[in-house]
Amino acid sequence: MKLTEDKVYDTIREVVGEDTIDIIKYLKDKKNISDFKIAEEVDRDIHEIRNILYRLYNHNLVSYYRKKDRQKGWYISYWTFNKQKVHDVLKNLHSTKLEKFQTRLVAEEANLGNFYLCPNACIRVGFERAVDLEYRCPECGSILNHQDNTKTIGFLKEQINRLQTNGLAASITPLQKPVPNGNGHAVKKEDKKIARKAAAKPVKKAVKASVKKKKR
Ligand SMILES: [Zn+2]
Repeated sequence: MKLTEDKVYDTIREVVGEDTIDIIKYLKDKKNISDFKIAEEVDRDIHEIRNILYRLYNHNLVSYYRKKDRQKGWYISYWTFNKQKVHDVLKNLHSTKLEKFQTRLVAEEANLGNFYLCPNACIRVGFERAVDLEYRCPECGSILNHQDNTKTIGFLKEQINRLQTNGLAASITPLQKPVPNGNGHAVKKEDKKIARKAAAKPVKKAVKASVKKKKR
């Protein structure tokens, strides 16, 4: 699969961070550029630039060599963007996402239709835990509300299906992005369905909120 330039940037942005993008844009058609030169060109502090470069290096997205500057007596590093490695990063991102959705799905299905949510969003628990807590939030004391997670399960299944069917192409396509149809290509029925599902906001919100909760 050939990656478009946007896909390259989106992948790097998602995995390594927004602050890497102007460096990548600067490096993309060049080779062996010194860290000082990069700092000058993208107009950022040399320490910040090195930090970003090493982050990119951790993902194999750049390579470098060091050379001692004879006049100044210190080492200078020369950097090159490894565009072909973006594929590997995207593949990893894809399998991480798929795994995450699948793990979530198992957890949701284990509590099919039976989640309990604090109205202040302190906790979200399954049926058994809710009984243990006597349907009260242990953090704020509010009565827990029953929440049907059928929609969440549907959403997760769609996501998994999308990642499995469309493969890498689906990995970083934002859900809210309009379905491309302006260039004469027929829009697949399935894509339309996905786009419609993705537009169903409450489902998305529910997933986001519960994911956030999980991290606490
Ligand atoms: Zn609460």
